[in-house]
Parts: sequence; C-alpha cells; structure tokens
Amino acid sequence: MRKIVQLPPQVAERIAAGEVVERPASVVKELVENAVDAGAAAIAISLRKGGKDLIRVQDDGAGIPAGELPLAVARYATSKITGLEDLWRVTTLGFRGEALASIGQVAELTITSGTGGGEGAAITVKGGVASGVRPAACPRGTIVEVRDLFFTVPARRKFLKQDAAEFARAAEWVTRIALSTPRAGFTLEHDGKTVWKIPSDATLAERVSMLFGPEAGAKLLAVEGGGAIEVRGAVARPEVWRRDRRAINFFVNGRHVRDAMLNQALAEGFRGCMVPGRFPVAVLGVLIDPARIDVNVHPAKAEIKFAAGAEVFQAVVRAVRAALAKLGPRAIEAAARPADTAAFSAAPAGGGRAEFSARLASAQEGLPARVAPRRAPADSAPLAPPAPAAPAAAPAPARILQVARSYLVRETAQGIEIVDQHALHEKMLFAAISARLAEGPLPMQELFFPVPVRLRPEEIAEIEERRAALESCGLRVEIRGPETALVLSVPAFGETGDPEGLLRDLLRDLGAGGAGAAPSLAARLACGLAVKAGRTLSAGEAADLLGRADGMEGVDTCPHGRPTKLVLGFAELRKHFDRL
Ligand code: ADP
Ligand code: MG
Repeated sequence: MRKIVQLPPQVAERIAAGEVVERPASVVKELVENAVDAGAAAIAISLRKGGKDLIRVQDDGAGIPAGELPLAVARYATSKITGLEDLWRVTTLGFRGEALASIGQVAELTITSGTGGGEGAAITVKGGVASGVRPAACPRGTIVEVRDLFFTVPARRKFLKQDAAEFARAAEWVTRIALSTPRAGFTLEHDGKTVWKIPSDATLAERVSMLFGPEAGAKLLAVEGGGAIEVRGAVARPEVWRRDRRAINFFVNGRHVRDAMLNQALAEGFRGCMVPGRFPVAVLGVLIDPARIDVNVHPAKAEIKFAAGAEVFQAVVRAVRAALAKLGPRAIEAAARPADTAAFSAAPAGGGRAEFSARLASAQEGLPARVAPRRAPADSAPLAPPAPAAPAAAPAPARILQVARSYLVRETAQGIEIVDQHALHEKMLFAAISARLAEGPLPMQELFFPVPVRLRPEEIAEIEERRAALESCGLRVEIRGPETALVLSVPAFGETGDPEGLLRDLLRDLGAGGAGAAPSLAARLACGLAVKAGRTLSAGEAADLLGRADGMEGVDTCPHGRPTKLVLGFAELRKHFDRL
C-alpha cells in the first residue's frame, strides 16, 4: 500500500471538473443556461466537430462587468446565490458557480463580455490558468468560446463519440432549453451550417413543430393544472407518439429534469389513451414553491428531489387527464389551437413567486377553453351505472353483503336472498336495451378517454361497413390507421369498463348474424355492459342495483335463461335447523 497523500489542487480540480463537464453537451448546457440566467433574448450556439474543436455561445444578456471576469471563472464564484439558505429558493438555472471554472480546467475558455456602457473586456483560461483581463470591443452581452475540449484530459477525449453523435446530444440540450424559455430565440449551428432557428416570439406550438415535427406541433393540447402545484404546458394528442421518452420534457421551476416519478405520472395520465410501449410528446412545466424541492442533488443539476412527491404526482396526473378530456370528439378542433409557452419559463433571477404567478395567469389567454365531457343523456339515467362510491347521503338500505365479489346477500320479507350480480344486472339491461332498440338508436355516452383498439385490416373494413349498425348500438368508432380504430363512445347503459371488448363482440355478432337480430344484439350488449362477476361493489352500488331490480318484473332469470337469484325462505331455514 502506498501512503495517503493530499492530491495537488490542480489534480483535485480536474477530477471535480469531470463531474460537471462530461462531454460537449454538458458544456453547451451550462453555457446556454448561463445565457438564459443573464436574461438573453437571442442566443446563438455554434459547434465545430461535435463541439470537440469549438463551442461558441453568444447572448445579448446582461453581460459581465470587466472587473468581475476573473471571479466568473473562479470556482464557487456565482452571482446567483449568496449562502446555503438560498439553495432552498433557487430560481435560476445555475447556482453552483463551478461551470466556467470547470470548463477552464479542461479546455481553452475565452469570455468576451460587455454590459452596454462603453467597451467590453475579455479573459482567457487555459488548462486552469487564467490570463489577465484585457479590453475588447463587445456590445451588451457575452460570447463564450470553448476550444480544444479535454486537451488536459486526453483519456476523456478518447471516450467521446463521433462528431455527429456528440452534436446530437448537445442539440438535445438546446432543444430542452428552447422549449422552456419562451422569451428567447435560438440559433443552432454545426460546422458552419444552420441546423435550426427559433425566433424569440415563437409560440410553444411553433417550437414543438420545429423540434419534434409539424404533426406534434399541430396536435397539441394545452395543459393547465392550477393549485398549489401548477402543471402547465402541452401534450400532443395520443395519436402522436414515440418509441422512447426523448420527446418527454419536464421542467420544474424552469429547470429540465429527468425524473422517473414524473414520467410515471405522465404515463398514468395517458392511461387508456396510449398503449404501453408508446410514449407521448410532452412539454410540461411544474411550478412548485422552490422551498419544496432540492435542486442540489446532482452535479449537472439534472435531477432534483421533491419534498411532496405524491402531491406532485397527483397534480401531473390530474392536469394531463384534464387536457386529454378535451379530446371529446366535439372538442378536437378547439384543442388543436396552439398553446402559449410563457407558462413554464424559469423565473427571472431575483423574481419573486408572486410575479411568476402573475405571468402564469396572463399566459392563459388564448389557451383553448376546457370542454366538459358530455354526460349520459338524462333519459337513460335510471339505467346508468350506479354512481361509483355513492355518497353516504343515499338512503342507507338494508344491509347487503357481497360474497366472493360476485353475489349479493340480503334479508327480505321471505327469507335470505342471494343474487348473482352479473346475471341480475344483465337481465335488467337486456329488458331496457330491447325496449330502446325497438324505438331507435341507443343513447351514446362519449368516453372521457377514447380507447384505441388494434384490429386486423378485415375488421377495420368491417367497421366501415357496419358503421350505422354500430352507431345504433351506441358505439361511435373512428378509424385511425390501417390497423387502428378509436372507440369514442359506448351505449349510455350499464358499465363502460371494456369498450374494446364491446367493439370486438359487436363486430363478431354483426358479421355473423347479418344485420344482427335485435334480441341477440340486446343480449350481447347487456352482457357486455353488465357489472362483471369479480367486481367489488360499494354498499351504495349494491343497494342501487337491488333496489332497481325490486321494481322490475321478470328478472328472475338472465337473458340466457339462467337464474339470477336464490331465495332461502324462512320456512326452509326453520326446517333445516329443526325449529318446527
Ligand atoms: P453559475 O451559473 O452556477 O453561477 P457559472 O460558472 O456558470 O456559475 O458562472 C459564474 C458566474 O458568471 C455567474 O454567476 C454569472 O454571474 C456569470 N456569467 C456566466 N455566464 C454569463 C453570461 N452568459 N452572461 C452574464 N453573466 C454570466
Ligand atoms: Mg452556470
């Protein structure tokens, strides 16, 4: 074993620098964040050879006074926080004060800056050694140039990927910052060619169009979740999807973060709208009291910790669901209008939360109005499913016991009644649906979340052919592709748990039975819509079901002829227990 020795400061600095500066993308991220923090309206980023030869970021922000240039490149020098307590209310992207110092350790860094009054100044740091400050002509703003990245750590340079791959990573960061900084315009260049350009007044929809393609941009739904934790931004409609999470962008108080919990919340919000294995296009800003997050858990500031994880999760789920609910078929056009971006920008340095909220409020003009999902028509109310979690205010009925999540047991005047919940409900629905079918099409209930169904091309053709019959059964279906259909509504009867199964059953029946004889159709629908065996019923739901059955004649057998109830009479009980 060798003796323990203190590392020479330069070696220690370089090791620390490695944490911040991993590859060209990390440099680009830090420099563009600095430009945003400086309040820039125009930021030009240009790279040569994937950033290995040159990274240049020019902004028109506040600039750095000549006298402060040496400090800007010193480690732990920052203008953004002054003490530990400030860490709990960080509203700027930077705060660790080590980016420029780290870059200066591993490359040749030149900063030229001007504050608007008089001439500017420049400083160069090469491999950790700073030059003096020299005067240099510069308009208000800052130009940062990073040459020969990792010339002091050749091992790291060897691990860099090909230019195109390194550039792509850097571009991803610029993309994220361009999405979260609505007030700024961006130009991105590689090897002398402009890759993209976003004007400073571009809306969120325009930014998404440019960065994720015109389809995503044209199909954005505004997300506008208020409350103590605000969730704002946009998601693309579910038909626009990706195979990975790269188009998912979360910003917490303006800072881009990758966070498994946020991803999960988004997936939960999309549940029922997007099949597993697909990922949405999303740009969501989460606004939370800065004191409730810890931003300082990752050297590159890519991760954060929430003090109120569950609340944030719920806020995201709720906001995303509310946005998707606008997809009620009638609301699609309205939802396609572009959304504003101002909602999730980083708070300006020193800007208070109140000011931030005010900006949020003003950002809402022009966002599509929320459209409430259409409820079941009133005339079907007696047949609508019992309201889930019926309030205790409903008349507390005779005690009903659910057994094996399939049977309901209660006492009646005759004795003990045992009901098969599915068979009974099915019979009741059969009677009601048969009656309605004789009059005309069934009332529809638009789905809060339209359900995508994968079908074979023959089945898709079948939908086209049987559209009228399906609609008279309350099922509205939109064809979305050679193998995809979207169920938009179900009959306003019974339970709507399995629209996909209902569609498949109906297609099979309609195909087999010609136009579908009314009785068999009613039986099929009743079976599909009746509460299933195995479903736990709340006390209110159970009471509602039995109460309605009490008022109906001829519900003792199901449409298939099987019995729906068993009664153990008191006489029988007495006999059994030898009480006669
Ligand atoms: P941090 O951003 O964490 O404060 P940096 O090392 O990135 O640390 O920057 C150090 C300081 O240099 C910043 O606090 C800021 O005052 C100044 N600075 C850096 N880049 C810019 C810029 N583009 N415009 C104005 N000031 C800048
Ligand atoms: Mg910084």
